[in-house]
Amino acid sequence: MAELGESPLIAGEPHLAVDEARAAIRAALRPIEGQETLPLAQVHGRVLAADLHSPMDVPPHDNSAMDGYAFDGAALRPDAPLVLQVVGTAHAGSPWAGTVAAGQCLRIMTGAVMPAGCNTVVPQELCRAEAGRVTIAAGVLRSGENRRGRGEDLARGGVALPAGRVLRPADVGLLASLGLATATVRRRVRVALMSTGNEVLAPGTPLVPGAIYDSNRYSLAAALQRLGCEVVDLGLVPDDPAALRAAFARAVAEADAVLTSGGVSVGEADHTRALLAELGEVAFWKVAMRPGRPFAFGPLRASGRSAWLFALPGNPVAALVTFYAFVRDALLQLAGAAEQPLPALQLPCATAIRKRPGRTEFQRAVVECAADGRWQVRLTGSQGAGILRSLSEANALLVLDHEQGAVAAGDPVTVWLFDGLV
Ligand code: AMP
Ligand code: MG
Repeated sequence: MAELGESPLIAGEPHLAVDEARAAIRAALRPIEGQETLPLAQVHGRVLAADLHSPMDVPPHDNSAMDGYAFDGAALRPDAPLVLQVVGTAHAGSPWAGTVAAGQCLRIMTGAVMPAGCNTVVPQELCRAEAGRVTIAAGVLRSGENRRGRGEDLARGGVALPAGRVLRPADVGLLASLGLATATVRRRVRVALMSTGNEVLAPGTPLVPGAIYDSNRYSLAAALQRLGCEVVDLGLVPDDPAALRAAFARAVAEADAVLTSGGVSVGEADHTRALLAELGEVAFWKVAMRPGRPFAFGPLRASGRSAWLFALPGNPVAALVTFYAFVRDALLQLAGAAEQPLPALQLPCATAIRKRPGRTEFQRAVVECAADGRWQVRLTGSQGAGILRSLSEANALLVLDHEQGAVAAGDPVTVWLFDGLV
């Protein structure tokens, strides 16, 4: 498991840098087993289980790319017009059975099979047709143009889609174009989700003194759904070791990964880390980041099974930022998805930001087009880790790397655009 690095920020407390924590998670995880074959209508967003080899050539036959006239391009001359006699018509879906001889052409529609003896199509707008003849002026066309070749898109036996592809609309269309009615995908990752804290109350119930409403379970469930996970909702768990132990046992029995929020710090009511040590292993606990410290990761074990615990901080912004920084990629890896890092842009920062080297900072930000027409990034209002509105107003995270110092207005900074997760 991961080596713990020293952070200059908190004397005596070893902290992992964000990149080290990400690497430690990546090294620990293996994709889950299990797959299912589903009708195409249900595979969008799922992970393809194995390389998909094309069962056929695409397109399956040479065909016309234009509405026009098919002929043998060998007859084209650079210095003289070509006059051809029209011998019939081919529509898409009804191939023309005859042969087109020298001096002849066939009226042809887009997608129709190229007739024997033809390798070129002159688009109807590039020629003159009258009295059963077509005249093609010199130099308007080269031999072989406007014909789509059999297997040009995909050859039979070739890899149409690689294992690990998260199937997008175009991929689903590609599967259909191969005549496939089903696809074999990995099963969804099951994630048990719970909120901890005696003060945390379910929305929809009257607020009592000292209580706050549970927002983490709802924001995280939404993020998990967008990621294609199956959510096992284990509800609210009080700050009580016995209750938490029971919830963990259930989570391990039912899920591949367990997401908790709250109770992972060093307060008297924070039991998550001790229970991870008791029931599994604390791979790491503290990360040099803001917001987000502390964040614990490691395997939980119960009744011969195990599941990966991601223990997120309770502060609503910190919970989502750590989800975005660590859990997103981890769950995609468990799902067997090919790596798909978040796009990171470099944009000028509208204002100066204070920052000390030695930790990664994630600030809520808006990427926008400034008055001068150039794109820039600015911070949303108050950046407190409990202020969920700052994240709700943001469309990106401004990421100040571990080693980075203060930022001056106009300096380029790294920005992670939200891909709908937070
Ligand atoms: P903790 O990490 O348990 O110390 O919690 C840090 C802060 O986040 C405290 O102010 C908690 O009340 C708050 N908090 C913890 N869990 C939640 C939750 N599920 N929804 C909203 N706020 C929470
Ligand atoms: Mg708490």
